[in-house]
Amino acid sequence: MPKPLVRAGGGFSAIRYSLRKGREAGGVLQLYRRLRSRNACKTCALGMGGQRGGMVNEQGRFPEVCKKSIQAQAADMQRPIPESFFRDHSLAELERWSSMQLEAAGRLAFPLAWTEGTTHFRRIDWNEALDRLAAELTAAAPEQTFFYASGRSSNEAAFLLQTLARAYGTKNIHNCSCYCHNASSVALARMLGSGTGTVTLDDLDRADLVLLAGANPASNHPRLIVKLVELRKRGGTVIVVNPLRELGLVRFRIPSRVRSLLFGSGVSDIYLQPHVGSDIAVFKALLKGVVERNAVQRVFVTDHVEGWGAVEADAERASWDELLEASGLARADVDRAVDAIVRARRGLALWAMGLTHHEHGVLNVAALGNLMAARGWVGAPGCGLMPIRGHSNVQGVGSVGFSPALKQAFADRMREVYGVPADGKGLDTYGSMEAAAAGQVRVAVLLGGNLYSSNPDSSWAGAALRRVGCTAAISTKLNQGHIHGRGRLQLVLPALARDEESQETTQESMFNFVRLSDGGSFPPPGEAKSEVEIVSALAARLLPSGPFPFEEMTSHRAIREAIARVVPGFGAMAEIDTTRREFRIAGRTFHEPRFGTPSGRLRLEVVPTTVLRVADGELRMMTLRSEGQFNTVVYEEEDLYRGNVRRDVVMMNREDAARLGLGEYDPVTVRSETGSLGAVVSFADLPPGNVAMYYPEANVLVPRRVDPASGTPAFKSFAVRIS
Ligand code: SF4
Repeated sequence: MPKPLVRAGGGFSAIRYSLRKGREAGGVLQLYRRLRSRNACKTCALGMGGQRGGMVNEQGRFPEVCKKSIQAQAADMQRPIPESFFRDHSLAELERWSSMQLEAAGRLAFPLAWTEGTTHFRRIDWNEALDRLAAELTAAAPEQTFFYASGRSSNEAAFLLQTLARAYGTKNIHNCSCYCHNASSVALARMLGSGTGTVTLDDLDRADLVLLAGANPASNHPRLIVKLVELRKRGGTVIVVNPLRELGLVRFRIPSRVRSLLFGSGVSDIYLQPHVGSDIAVFKALLKGVVERNAVQRVFVTDHVEGWGAVEADAERASWDELLEASGLARADVDRAVDAIVRARRGLALWAMGLTHHEHGVLNVAALGNLMAARGWVGAPGCGLMPIRGHSNVQGVGSVGFSPALKQAFADRMREVYGVPADGKGLDTYGSMEAAAAGQVRVAVLLGGNLYSSNPDSSWAGAALRRVGCTAAISTKLNQGHIHGRGRLQLVLPALARDEESQETTQESMFNFVRLSDGGSFPPPGEAKSEVEIVSALAARLLPSGPFPFEEMTSHRAIREAIARVVPGFGAMAEIDTTRREFRIAGRTFHEPRFGTPSGRLRLEVVPTTVLRVADGELRMMTLRSEGQFNTVVYEEEDLYRGNVRRDVVMMNREDAARLGLGEYDPVTVRSETGSLGAVVSFADLPPGNVAMYYPEANVLVPRRVDPASGTPAFKSFAVRIS
């Protein structure tokens, strides 16, 4: 097996793949029509499309499209799954199907039910499905339920379902970001008084340095790579911090730029490969370098920062030996990065789950914030903090209230305007899973996503969800959650994708930009319904009367008017379908050093140098996604960029393999404190002592340890042994 399978990320292989997907989806033209329709891209939260048309970014640039968006679109264009499928395949058989097989089975086109003691899913009609769900919720005490949403949903559906949940009486409301970027939200809220990224897409064009830490946008947010390549072309510097040397972060062929397509473009200048779980030591070393070079922006930290003195003293006290030993980096490499940071005038920090999937995820982000603050790189054009968010509307579902606690102003408005109780804090995702494991959950309503596969310790997660009385999943396609994470009664309610909706919906990008999706004339599969229609039909059964006018909420416009009334910063939502004016949410991007904290200053904290420690004979493990995957959905078994043609691999350094007497493709067993998993060895450019496996398959190994400050599990930071 040559490694990797291509010489650069993107390029002709991505184009060939797109054409193949087009043919599979019923024709390249049809696929193009759907991609160009005036709907937000269904995949990542970088955000494309909306009223400027598909494949257009927030700056109006076209064509902005990538393999990820094509994969998702082609998957939604599959044929409906026929009823015979569920007669022919028992649950016991489906339990053996992979994520990829289930995704490729087709679109869900009618409601399904499975009850304990039976062997197959059976088709039911909508009335039976909704009556049963409403009856289960009515029979349960509200605190025995939870409501979960993924980033696939619209703002309208998410707002309506969280309102229904609160009016019904539970606060156990959470979304998939609890398991991905909640650590970023918590850290940013402490620092800035606002929990989202501080920048716009334009800032990427103004920066002359990007520090990209714990992220692989070449695979997961491909169009972001264009910005990095352009930054380098105008003389800027890209520093990557990632234990694994990723091909797509070294060289990428941008399909929409002829020269880049033919010859490839360099993506990064400095590539730091620290130990898994050592980011705080890395950022503190960089900060120490900045302090020692007298490169701190004194005016900024004096006038606009709270807590700088203690942070600076901590960096000065830290010993170089300890920081280098903890991170595994060479001093010369750190010095090169410090040189670049000191030279640059405007810098941006970009990160993803490489920073958040740790028991100290919040501290990782805080340590990165300290470094950026030292250079005055928060609250100015071309500067700032940017968590790279995953699913297309993950930020939006949280903004409109699908979270365990609402901001006080939002909660006050919910109570004052609609009489809906919204104070206090409910269980987050991990708290709800623990309650399920303890047999304390009677009903779980899942608005999209795959909660089962998103969990650490898969065996525990499956067992926990199977104790739930009723799980109801509102989904577009089958996934392993329906099979392994089913409650004693499992309902599957088929939903439309956003470009199939008959009314407009809205979505929010990672740049706090709200887009309007037209929906479309694309035929919905079978009996699938709009998410809003499903939620309002449930509300009519569950809460036929009450202070919130659920009966009016079959109109998406009415929901948007309600959002505009209660969600701070969303006033422009009320008339977005007539103005067609997409908008940026006020108070979240900072181009001046005036922050949302009580003092108006950036608030820093001293971060203890916390790292993942392993015992003799143990290796540091991180889980990661492949180039052919988006979140828990696997589209392709092969990972072109890492040269893997199968997913049951453990990626490791040759030195480690030699020490263990292993060759490439040798079968091994990987053991953690939680579980064990068979795999074959795949050589990868990781520092010795560090290994990686694919998420979500390797979740069977991930211990149930969460960051106490954010509730985010440590998917990228645990010890294993290999034999
Ligand atoms: S980078 Fe993200 S938003 Fe842009 S086309 Fe790809 S998946 Fe869609």
